[in-house]
Amino acid sequence: MSLLSVDRLSTHYPAAAGTVRAVDDVSLEILEGETVALVGESGCGKSTLGKSLMRLIDPTSGRVTFKGRDVVAMSGKELQSIRRHIQMIFQDPFASLNPRQTIRTILTAPLAVHGIGDRKSRDAIAASMVAHVGLPSDSLDRYPHEFSGGQRQRIGIARALILQPELVICDEPVSALDLSIQAQILNLLVEMKTELSLSYLFISHDLSVVRYFADRVLVMYLGRIVESAPTARLWSDAKHPYTRALLAAVPDPSRRKQAAPITGDLPSPHNPPSGCRFHTRCPIATEICRTDDPAYRQMGSGHAVACHQAE
Ligand code: SF4
Ligand code: MG
Repeated sequence: MSLLSVDRLSTHYPAAAGTVRAVDDVSLEILEGETVALVGESGCGKSTLGKSLMRLIDPTSGRVTFKGRDVVAMSGKELQSIRRHIQMIFQDPFASLNPRQTIRTILTAPLAVHGIGDRKSRDAIAASMVAHVGLPSDSLDRYPHEFSGGQRQRIGIARALILQPELVICDEPVSALDLSIQAQILNLLVEMKTELSLSYLFISHDLSVVRYFADRVLVMYLGRIVESAPTARLWSDAKHPYTRALLAAVPDPSRRKQAAPITGDLPSPHNPPSGCRFHTRCPIATEICRTDDPAYRQMGSGHAVACHQAE
C-alpha cells in the first residue's frame, strides 16, 4: 500500500543569482514497509526534497500525499500532527542536538509537544528508547558533548523514533561518521525498521551505502529523478549514464564492465543546462540531448529512466 506519494513536486527559492530550482518536477512513491534510497551528488537537491516532504521547507508546487492526506495543503495543528508520523534523522548529529539540553529533555520534548503521557511516563519512554538504540543506561542526564559521534547519532535516531513514526527520512545519517561506526548505525536502522515497522527514505551520496538494504533506488541529478529501479536491477542493468558513472565510482570486483567515473562539476541549479540536464557531462550525448528534455519513461519491472538513449 502506498504510504507517501509525491506528484510533480517543485521547490524553488530566490537567490541573488536567480531562482534556484533545487527540486524540479519530481514524482515518487514510497510503499508501506519499503526502504527507498535517494542518491546523487551533494547539491543535487536531495535534502531539499526530503525536507519538502514533511514541510520543513515549503514546496513551490506539486502534491505530497501521506496516507491519502494532502500534506502541502495542511497548516497549523494538522501539519503538526502529521510530523508525528514523518520524522527526520539528520547528517550531523551534533549540529542537530541542542548542546544545552540533557538527553532527557531532547527525547521527552517531542512527546510533550504532541501531548503524550505525563512527565513520569515520558521519562519512562525516554529510558526505554535509550536502551533500544544501545546507549548507556545513565545517558538521560548527560549532555550531547559527552557522547561520541556514533552515540550522538543514536540519540538523533532515538529522538526521531520516540514518536513511533511511520516514515523516517534519513538524510545522510552515516556520512559524518567514521567508517567503523557507519556499519553499526546502519545495522541499528535496519533493526529498528523491522522492530517498529518503519518505512525509510534514505538519502545518500554513496550508492555503496544503500546497496544492501534499500528495496529501491532513486537517482537524482540537478533537481530531477533521472532513474529509478529495484536495487538489484539498478546494480545489474543501470540505463542512465549518470547512474552508471555513480556505480563506476563504487569498487566492485564482480562487475565486468566498468563505466568511466563522472568528471566535471555539477552545473548550477540556478540555470540548469537546456535539454537533458546531464548533457554537459554525458559521455554519449548527441545533438537532441542539448535541445530536448528526455521524458521519464517506464522500462518495465519498476524501472524508469529519463534518457534519450536508454535503449
Ligand atoms: Fe546523456 Fe543524452 Fe541520455 Fe542525457 S539524454 S543522459 S545527455 S544520452
Ligand atoms: Mg544534503
